[in-house]
Amino acid sequence: MRTWGFLAVLALTAGLGAVLQLVPPRPSPPGDVGFAQRLQRSARVVLITLDGPVRGDVLDAEKFPSLHAAVEAEGVLFPAVTASVLAGSLVGYQALYAGALTSCRSNECPRIGVETVAEGLARELKLTPDDLAVFTSWALLEQAVSSADGHVQIDAPDAGPITDEGPPWRNARLDDDTFTRAREAWKTHPPRFLHLAFLDTDEWAHLGDRANYEKALLQTDARIAEVLAWVQALPPDEAALTTVIITADHGRSRRDWTRHGFFQRGSRDVFIAAIGPLVHGGEQRRADQTDVRPTIERLFGVCPGSLRGGGRALPAIVGELPCLPQSSSSPRAPSQ
Ligand SMILES: [Zn+2]
Repeated sequence: MRTWGFLAVLALTAGLGAVLQLVPPRPSPPGDVGFAQRLQRSARVVLITLDGPVRGDVLDAEKFPSLHAAVEAEGVLFPAVTASVLAGSLVGYQALYAGALTSCRSNECPRIGVETVAEGLARELKLTPDDLAVFTSWALLEQAVSSADGHVQIDAPDAGPITDEGPPWRNARLDDDTFTRAREAWKTHPPRFLHLAFLDTDEWAHLGDRANYEKALLQTDARIAEVLAWVQALPPDEAALTTVIITADHGRSRRDWTRHGFFQRGSRDVFIAAIGPLVHGGEQRRADQTDVRPTIERLFGVCPGSLRGGGRALPAIVGELPCLPQSSSSPRAPSQ
């Protein structure tokens, strides 16, 4: 049954030239309080962000073989758009962390002014910073991760100019360094929420270096495969509640792939992928970056708060996962 259903979906999507709901809907897990409590106690989310990949490259199975194989086995991958027409990095990361558009307009904007998804999980699930870890290649991501200090562990390079040891762009380190550090941390203690924020793709693209950009894509795919192997090596009852979400801060111009932004059509084209046993499957129409936060909350058994202009948990990922209302309210209005 399942195989025929899958083949039918595949044939249909191939026939329409459409993308990519590669698994049929699954039965939902039991929608009870006990299951929501289990999610709150033991669920885990690994968020992986790529910086500014061409969406078509991510949707191409030859460029992302591991990602596509994993999606085919146990996940979804669908197109999405950035929350903001500005299609910049910090604008995008703040939308992902806030679950709504913030007042951020550029990479020079101030630190996020609302409680972020990581801070909300800390409050709601009483998680300590060793369970909320962010490893980033880009120094300025810190402006999106948390509105206050102390709740989230952030491993970032120093902001500053290009150095001899670092990559040929500023405020950064290479993704290889970032990933090596994350791997060591995971070995010691797999956090409940882990964000791996990669950067190389955007910077090689800005430099117009196609060969290194393509290499960065393949390296990212290999890192996704490794993260999935980490998850597989967890105790089975923990792996069963772990979801890997992959998305991007923005896309790239269709006319000039070295650029992105308001005047560059195509820059809003991003994607969202989710892999893991909790992922519901099926088709997902209309998704944007602000949907990622409430989706993550539902994966932790936490009912998303109501946020003006905010996103919603994506049905193709969370299905009917049960959630418990948040125990304490907090100032969640976006800082407009
Ligand atoms: Zn860029």
